[in-house]
Amino acid sequence: MNKTLVQLPSLNLESLKNMVSDWGFPAFRAKQIIDWRNKGILNPDDMRNLPQDLRTTLNQKLCCQPLKQVQRQCSEDGTRKYLFSLQSGKTIETVLIPEPERGTVCISSQVGCVLDCPFCHTGTQKFEANLTAGEIIAQVLAVKEDLRNNPLPSDLHDQVTHIVYMGMGEPMANEEALHESLKMLMAEDGLHISRRRITVSTSGLTPQIERLGEIHPVNLAISLHSALDDERNTLVPINRKYPLQTLRTCLNLYPLPHQRHITLEYLMLDGVNDRQEDLQALLQFVNPERERVNLIRFNPYPGSPYEGSPTEHMNKFAQDLISKGIRATVRRSRGQDIMAACGQLKSSAA
Ligand code: SF4
Repeated sequence: MNKTLVQLPSLNLESLKNMVSDWGFPAFRAKQIIDWRNKGILNPDDMRNLPQDLRTTLNQKLCCQPLKQVQRQCSEDGTRKYLFSLQSGKTIETVLIPEPERGTVCISSQVGCVLDCPFCHTGTQKFEANLTAGEIIAQVLAVKEDLRNNPLPSDLHDQVTHIVYMGMGEPMANEEALHESLKMLMAEDGLHISRRRITVSTSGLTPQIERLGEIHPVNLAISLHSALDDERNTLVPINRKYPLQTLRTCLNLYPLPHQRHITLEYLMLDGVNDRQEDLQALLQFVNPERERVNLIRFNPYPGSPYEGSPTEHMNKFAQDLISKGIRATVRRSRGQDIMAACGQLKSSAA
């Protein structure tokens, strides 16, 4: 299949209507195709109410299935990690995190990452490509299809309800595809997911955060990991370009719906950013009215240079924040047994 073909997952109803008419079919067929697509059915041969000649045309004129599932691993807690290959043969990972009340898909935005955070497994893989909006959306559609074909245990939610851009890559460094994919996720003729259920996680590219707030003010998560510039320069090297003060000003201006908060992600590394001075700096940095802190357990990967903080220490750190009026939680790690937890994604089938 030619990768320069338009990708079905990125098309809206209007554009598809025009295409279908140009190909000589009635425009109402576009709606049927979109309905199949939104259920995660991308193979025209499975779109049962389409005439054969339209299925053939779709196969010829569009890239209907930009992703191919190479591997799927299922954790004992229900988490599923997928390895998909793109048309180029490059691979990415996507994670489904099912819970009783919701189903969250963690999507990748790049192959590898342009940034180089030393604690991150993805960051050890060199940047290879930006994903297209179609490839970003196709991850969600592929998970939907998998959920239909391979149902979860009945105590877990069987639909995709939430999306987090927290997989491989820095979404803000692939800004055009980020915005295009957000539009498609939220559109009525797209996946129709409320912006309140979508979170973009970034290491802190402030001009892009400002534009996100102006154009698609979805939930925002910041990979903070330290509130001391010197330390953050090492842990999140983009801090050298956009230091904490710049980030502070930017976060103060990000539009927040009523009772919503920006999440500050804080990966706890033993003896690195979990000391008393780190706590003090964090207490000073956080704006308790608008932000909450999510303390994350470090998931070691082979060859990682850090150790995670002990659980008791994490709980104490959280309690110290809470006692000063800051919303703080220790995030439960999911899918650790299949290396699907935060910061563990890397595209290999090994
Ligand atoms: S933490 Fe995020 S921004 Fe940093 S290297 Fe990993 S994927 Fe890239």
